Amino acid sequence: MFDSLSAKFTTAFSSLRKKGRIKAEDIAEITAEIKLALLDSDVSLEVTENFIARISERTLESLADINKGINPSQQIFDIVHQELVEILGGSARRIRYSKRPPTVILLTGLQGAGKTSLAGKLAKYLKDQGNTPLLVASDLQRPNAVTQLQIVGESISVPVFAPEPGNGVGDPIAVAKAGVKFANDKIHNIVIVDTAGRLGVDEELMKQAKSIRDAINPDEVLFVVDAMIGQDAVRTARAFLDGVGFDGIVLTKLDGDARGGAALSITKSTGRPIMFAATGEKVGDFDLFYPERMASRILGLGDVATLAEQAKKAFDSEDAAKLENKFASGEDFTLDDFLQQLEAMKKMGSMTKLLGMLPGVNSGAMKKQLENFDEGELVRTQAIVQSMTPGERNDPKVLNGSRRLRIAKGSGRAVSEVNNLVDRFTSAQKMMRQMRSSGGRSLPPSMALPPGMALPPGMGGNSSGGGRSGQTPPKKKSKSGNPAKRAAEGG
Ligand code: GDP
Repeated sequence: MFDSLSAKFTTAFSSLRKKGRIKAEDIAEITAEIKLALLDSDVSLEVTENFIARISERTLESLADINKGINPSQQIFDIVHQELVEILGGSARRIRYSKRPPTVILLTGLQGAGKTSLAGKLAKYLKDQGNTPLLVASDLQRPNAVTQLQIVGESISVPVFAPEPGNGVGDPIAVAKAGVKFANDKIHNIVIVDTAGRLGVDEELMKQAKSIRDAINPDEVLFVVDAMIGQDAVRTARAFLDGVGFDGIVLTKLDGDARGGAALSITKSTGRPIMFAATGEKVGDFDLFYPERMASRILGLGDVATLAEQAKKAFDSEDAAKLENKFASGEDFTLDDFLQQLEAMKKMGSMTKLLGMLPGVNSGAMKKQLENFDEGELVRTQAIVQSMTPGERNDPKVLNGSRRLRIAKGSGRAVSEVNNLVDRFTSAQKMMRQMRSSGGRSLPPSMALPPGMALPPGMGGNSSGGGRSGQTPPKKKSKSGNPAKRAAEGG
């Protein structure tokens, strides 16, 4: 997502960083590059021009001060970052809960925008927050929309109100109304109403959406839009704004090679905030929209805050605390711990997606490496570790040739893969000892990546600062007598 835009920003700033003092011509040059990059990414001309004008104004008027500072190009980068956050909507707005439940959320948008999927994602998200949502199947038009909603509801254990079969049968307004009443009677605190879309904006669609809106008086009308349709997203959004009106936007399919234009233009063009983002077909591929994090991603700073949150969700806090204590008390990190981490990593979802959140990973050599990353590696690695005895996992030094052969056979992998895993694990273990002895903070359990994936130095950094990680390269290995070795031996 936003890869090409991000790469262009990175290139533009890397040439600016080479300059010491920044001149007005340099500003003209970088703003021209940024302008091209934005237009290329389908950002609307109006939004692009305003953005460029703001950056030029802010940088040029304080150029003398900027040049007095230690790092002029960084200050310009910061201005661009702030302005990007601004066009993405500044601070994020969240769902407004009704004082008199249920809170009614109406989903509108074109057919195929991802409304029905979104209904499930949103319901799961709200349920995980302790709510008791009800899904209402008012898309009685699209073939199988009702069944699709029922299936998704079942998969997340959220009830679905679906009195009509759909596929052209039933009155969507009556269903929506009855759904809200049902939620009220059964004490659901949130109702999410899925409605029909059309392939394009048309009168009848607007009329139906408006009638549903008037019938149920929703607390939030969310406009769901496919980010991959570029400029059309803005046109469609404006049509819905005039026709039905909405309070917030949900961008879907941000996992595709969306050029980003929709995200960058839609808030300014409609005056409505982007509230949620969907990044895949699975029910968990969904998150709140954070302008700050998105801006950081676009500028190649990664999104360490989201990464850390997902890690926190996946790693059992008790297990993590145990591991931390173990680490702090000087015990070694074992293959059993590693196995536990692999399990948690599997829970976190696609590794490619996760690693893409690291700073700088979406450009250059790291990007290539990421593209070649094999998701099956995690499962294969797990199979190898599981084929070891508890004793072997605890002390991999006992792994001689015949044991390695047995493990390879047991896991259906080649001996070379077993060797590779053991080597990588041993290096990770050494690195842990060194970090401990250098008085470093404890490591998050996400430290040990599967073999085949080099560990970027920022991986163990903290997550504060909205996207910048503290990148502390591991200390170099040194000979015995140094504190690292002493601690390792002592542990
Ligand atoms: P609706 O007509 O608006 O209800 O659209 P659906 O919810 O049926 O979604 C249309 C298609 O887009 C389905 O195949 C979904 O699986 C897919 N889809 C929805 N959201 C996303 C997303 O965020 N990423 C990707 N890759 N696909 C999505």
